Amino acid sequence: MEKKQNEKLEMLRHSAAHLLAHALMELFPETKLTLGPPTKNGYFYDFLPKENLKEKDLELVAEKMAEIAERDLPITHEEISKIEAKKLYKDNPFKLEMIDGIEGDTVGLARQGDFYDLCKGGHVKSTGLLKHFKLTNLSGAYWRADKKNQALQRINGVVLPSAKELRIYEKRVEEAKLYDHRKLGKELELFSFHEEGVGFPFFHPNGKAVINTLIDFMRKNLEQDGYQEIQTPIMLSDELWKRSGHYAHYKENMYFSEIDEQSYAIRPMNCPGGILIYKNRPRSFRELPLKLSEFGIDHRHELSGVLHGLFRVRSFTMDDAHIFCTTDQIEEEVLKLIAFVNKILGSFNFAKITIGLSTQPEDSMGGDDLWNKATEALANALKKNKIDYILREGDGAFYGPKIDFVIEDSMGREWQCSTIQVDFFQPENFDLTYVASGGERKRPVMIHRAIYGSLERFFGILIEHYKGKFPFWLAPVQVKILTITDDQKEYAQKIYKILKDEGIRVVVDDSSDQISAKIKTAQLQKVPWMLVLGQKEQENNTIALRPREGKQEFGLTLEALLKKIKLLLQV
Ligand SMILES: [Zn+2]
Ligand SMILES: [Zn+2]
Repeated sequence: MEKKQNEKLEMLRHSAAHLLAHALMELFPETKLTLGPPTKNGYFYDFLPKENLKEKDLELVAEKMAEIAERDLPITHEEISKIEAKKLYKDNPFKLEMIDGIEGDTVGLARQGDFYDLCKGGHVKSTGLLKHFKLTNLSGAYWRADKKNQALQRINGVVLPSAKELRIYEKRVEEAKLYDHRKLGKELELFSFHEEGVGFPFFHPNGKAVINTLIDFMRKNLEQDGYQEIQTPIMLSDELWKRSGHYAHYKENMYFSEIDEQSYAIRPMNCPGGILIYKNRPRSFRELPLKLSEFGIDHRHELSGVLHGLFRVRSFTMDDAHIFCTTDQIEEEVLKLIAFVNKILGSFNFAKITIGLSTQPEDSMGGDDLWNKATEALANALKKNKIDYILREGDGAFYGPKIDFVIEDSMGREWQCSTIQVDFFQPENFDLTYVASGGERKRPVMIHRAIYGSLERFFGILIEHYKGKFPFWLAPVQVKILTITDDQKEYAQKIYKILKDEGIRVVVDDSSDQISAKIKTAQLQKVPWMLVLGQKEQENNTIALRPREGKQEFGLTLEALLKKIKLLLQV
């Protein structure tokens, strides 16, 4: 059922991409079309315009698309010889290159009216069936996604089977705008960015409080699970990065500096630091699995065009760990890790968590036998324990395959955060050993894993997922005490001190503003709990609790309040 729907959607998207290209050619006949595939959420078309289109031109293109759809042109598909195809595209070097890249003597061609496009097939029957579409944005792209190639323009769009589904989609987009973490980050004073450090986030007290809570929560769980925390340097000698392979595979994304005439690199990942700690002295089999965790700050040079709030930054903190173990221990450790990841991610009310297995990418290090061994270890752990997963071919890291976790947030969007990677290569590369029970030296295996992934990005995801309304345990300010008149100032201070001593993030608003104004401010700050203190509360030694959601409670004793808080803090 789901598969059929997906196929139908794919046909709609594919056909809408043709429609978009058709509209472009009618409006701007000198446009050179390149590629226009369906995507996970819609479709796009990349093209070289004679004159660059502007955002406002999208309306014109969409109108033309609607007009062509109205003509209800039948969409046909045929195989033509490459010679014929090259004649059709004699003025379009992109299509000519594509034709050369297709195997065999023929290529597929789709036609609707006098428009034609290279195509493998899979359309709706006529343009009239494309009714509920929309163009979403105009952006830049490169031919074959390589920035050394010709710069192109890209139009993105969506198409859906019904008007209702398109409306739901539009509502989600609106919500996503409304709860954009960059907007909420400013409103809630969580973080900021400055020209003085492009792509480097600044966390304000509110934001840092959330990050620290995330770290504390992780630390508590790491300790329970037998991890030992380490801290390794942010800058390390070039030689190390050459040996680890980062230099060959990652150099373009790394920052370099010099100390005492020696070249250093600022780390893009934490692994080599952990490796040096392992290698610092001989290790015995008794120590394995050795689990070393690190909240490591990394820097990666991302192009300024792709920077996006906390989602794409140039400096970030990985909640990293490396597990050194024997080959026999891999399966059990991977299983434990899957349970650990599920436990952590399970604390954030995500709609869904799915697991994927990513295999050897083209640009990889280490022999195929090591890759096969590592991939098998991961697949076995999943299969033997009947854990459903999606296979992602070629998506692994350059040093090993990985299991990744994709979460779905409250707005139906998917994010990949946690990964578990089995690595036979780095232990070989750095000549890591342990002394086995019989006294012989053996090679350990290294498992890399991160759960939040980048704390900055995870924080950004949480801001949008919760729409700025953090649950009590995570909220930057958990409780705000509001006085009705100046007479309650002292009582407010007393309550404040008690909560503060309990480790609650609490503030007092004893300004001379009207209580209604104070409530309004606290609501805008999305504070989970307001404690309203008036004359009555002071006289009876009670509190009126006004939660962000739900009903007000009057006449609560301090004891009852603390009990409620303890319940909320059991994550
Ligand atoms: Zn087609
Ligand atoms: Zn690592």
